[in-house]
Amino acid sequence: MLLVQKYGGSSVADVERLRKVAGRVAAARRRGDDVVVVVSAMGNTTNELLALARSVTQAPGRRELDMLISVGERVSMALLAMALQELGVPARSFTGSQSGIITDSSHANARVVEVRPDRVREALARGEVAIVAGFQGVSREREVTTLGRGGSDTTAVVLAAALHADECEICSDVDGVYTADPRAVPAAVRLDALTLDEALALAQNGAKVLYDEAVAWARREGITLRASATFGDSPGTRIHPGTAAPRIVAIAADTQLAWGPVTLLAALPTACVRAAGPEGLLLDRRNLHADLPGLVPAATVTVVGARAGADPGTLSRVLQAAGPDGLRWRAAADAVVFAVDPVRAPGLERALHLALLEGASA
Ligand code: ADP
Ligand code: ASP
Ligand code: MG
Repeated sequence: MLLVQKYGGSSVADVERLRKVAGRVAAARRRGDDVVVVVSAMGNTTNELLALARSVTQAPGRRELDMLISVGERVSMALLAMALQELGVPARSFTGSQSGIITDSSHANARVVEVRPDRVREALARGEVAIVAGFQGVSREREVTTLGRGGSDTTAVVLAAALHADECEICSDVDGVYTADPRAVPAAVRLDALTLDEALALAQNGAKVLYDEAVAWARREGITLRASATFGDSPGTRIHPGTAAPRIVAIAADTQLAWGPVTLLAALPTACVRAAGPEGLLLDRRNLHADLPGLVPAATVTVVGARAGADPGTLSRVLQAAGPDGLRWRAAADAVVFAVDPVRAPGLERALHLALLEGASA
């Protein structure tokens, strides 16, 4: 079997955890599997690198930002290769560029356009574990690019597709996809399975557990993913192709948004614009990396489920559950999105979960 395993930042936050990850990879190797490992930057490294840039200039250029923030994943890949070699497992690390991850040239939020993992294949053929730096690629102009915050998931999925891997596992500090962010909604429960469509709607509406571009790629390629915990033996969540039954599956919240004037449109990377309407632009602040004039913090809370917004009975149940916080809403086929003041988002998230996904009413 060929496995692609992706380990997020908290899973490799320090040397002790990095060694444990090496042990987990070595165990798969002992079972006879070929393994490609994708790693994120250690712990808070990416935020620290961004803060470092801000200490030099308030308006860092996006090309230089990519040169800087792509470094975090390179530290992890080299250290993990060393930790595996220390266990007697042959391993070799590769940057995004060396792994053949070709992207467009939108710095700090690039899209993967082609994957040519020749060197990864050669390493596997030599019996090595291939360790790939997540979150980065190279443009056709041979510039280093990064894939947007959370983008190591994309590295894993595009490699799994290109290498025809048997399994693509996204390993994190949470043991799967829950009915809401378990940090915000303690009553949330782990889902055994959901469809890629459902996962995409969740990811696009702010659920950080999976990166939307990664889920979109998996959906296009018909790849099944598994979200699991790096440590522990929970079965995790299977995320598979296919059509979802009509159901409310989960609540997502996104507090990293902002309203901005339409006049900003020309100055913004297009991928940061979520919606444009009479109230102005709804922007995703995660990959902006610039202080723009006139931004007002915004948030959305979303009920995700196949036909949730299309079925009148379900829609009225959702609107009722939202109560007075649900005045500004938009229904899509697979989601009902509420625009709220960021301070109201956690309360609405819990109220919707309680009414729609807990106890007898669920
Ligand atoms: P990693 O660094 O491993 O990529 P992330 O921080 O990007 O991990 O994603 C994991 C986090 O996603 C969890 O710690 C959890 O707080 C958050 N999260 C948000 N929504 C969900 C959800 N529906 N199910 C599980 N986790 C969620
Ligand atoms: N290190 C990057 C980030 O913090 C990418 C990732 O973790 O997926 O966003
Ligand atoms: Mg992540």
